[in-house]
Amino acid sequence: MLSLLHVLPLLTSLALASPIQLPHLLVTRQDIQTPINSSLPNVTIFATGGTIASQGASNTQTTGYQVGLGVQQLVDAVPEILNISNVAGYQISNVGSGSINSTISLTLAHMINAELAKDDVSGVIVTHGTDTLEETAFFLSSTVNSPKPVICVGAMRPATALSADGPLNLFQAVTLAASPAGRDRSTMIVLNDRIGSAFYTTKNNANTLDTFFSTEAGQLGVFINQVPFFFFAPAEPVGRIVFDVDSVSDLAQVDIIYSHQDMDPALFNASVAAGAEGIVVAGVGAGGTSSKAALAMEELYNATGIPIVASHRSSDGFVPSGEDDVTIASGFYNPQKSRILLQLALTVGYDEAAIREAFAKSYPMP
Ligand code: ASP
Repeated sequence: MLSLLHVLPLLTSLALASPIQLPHLLVTRQDIQTPINSSLPNVTIFATGGTIASQGASNTQTTGYQVGLGVQQLVDAVPEILNISNVAGYQISNVGSGSINSTISLTLAHMINAELAKDDVSGVIVTHGTDTLEETAFFLSSTVNSPKPVICVGAMRPATALSADGPLNLFQAVTLAASPAGRDRSTMIVLNDRIGSAFYTTKNNANTLDTFFSTEAGQLGVFINQVPFFFFAPAEPVGRIVFDVDSVSDLAQVDIIYSHQDMDPALFNASVAAGAEGIVVAGVGAGGTSSKAALAMEELYNATGIPIVASHRSSDGFVPSGEDDVTIASGFYNPQKSRILLQLALTVGYDEAAIREAFAKSYPMP
């Protein structure tokens, strides 16, 4: 009765992987052994690591655990998934999400676009560490061109913990990826019974289960007894741009510089000297810096024309345009999402005017 699903013509994507640049990139096809039920929808899981794939030494250990469970083990822990879907899986990496990089992100985008183009695939799931999950989710929202659901899911407690949250989060993610209710909503984040938009959801607490939300945009929906309920009809984020990264194998380098009292203005030039093609400032308040840092930014901009996006270091908020001619206002995008948008815009060759417009599309003009 055991057999595998969606057998693998994936290997064009494998050409992306550069083992020299990227020791973490595994991209191995894991043939999830599941009973096929042709009446069930097919979903594909792309596993990248994180706490959801981690184990501690005891069931009370909730810090300092080790990543390493594979996609088969994630599915084995939740056999109920097989009552609602046929699953296939790819192991893309097995790392803490601080080590997710542009090669992994691009591999995900390429493979997910290819997977969702298959008529018999209902949706996909990315299992991911929560620390940078919102970045990958925003990246996929900006690069996957499909009405089908893309669900990013993680866990705050390792698989070995008392009350581990990963299994139910994964079950809910599969439920949503298999459901028509998940279509036409762009990429979503599922954790802790909540469904959030990849565009605005952010990780607000380093440790607790109730960490993913956006104070401004709120939640898209919730799971009630494991059934997804959306508060609104399908909608996608205002200003979303879908970049075609099919033939892209590397992303432009963009650094984030954190603003604070006595900020060292030398960081701007240092960043460019180290290869940055764009800079995002996690500004104080609505995109601010010290006057010394503002001068350094102006000199850098006048000398190089490098795009400098002003975002906010507060976890939520808005940076309006027109504050100065040097910086580009991030609008509602936080620094990490601004960085991805700027990377994508630079990578596909946007000029400064187009970059300004890309950011301005997501917020009301004065
Ligand atoms: N360290 C983990 C990570 O990979 C944290 C998590 O997954 O919750 O991001």
